[in-house]
Amino acid sequence: MTAAPASDECALKWCNEAGEHTEHRQYLSSLVTWRQTWLVGVNVVQAGGEPLHVELTATTRFSPPATVTLRPDEAEAVGQALLEAAARCLR
Ligand SMILES: [Zn+2]
Repeated sequence: MTAAPASDECALKWCNEAGEHTEHRQYLSSLVTWRQTWLVGVNVVQAGGEPLHVELTATTRFSPPATVTLRPDEAEAVGQALLEAAARCLR
């Protein structure tokens, strides 16, 4: 055990995790959707020496969370598809 840090906060300023953790994570957005049944989260994650990536999580009160890991370009493609789908619904 090394000397305890002055605070429980991560050394990376953008990271929201506290205490010991192997994955750095910024909790960007957490949205309750579809008749209050789904909780959708969007996080920025970095584990080990890997590049930053996007984590999309979806969970209900009755199911374990599903996690989709995306490269930045993939996250942009998913975001564009969501915008396009939403626009079609609103036409
Ligand atoms: Zn961290």
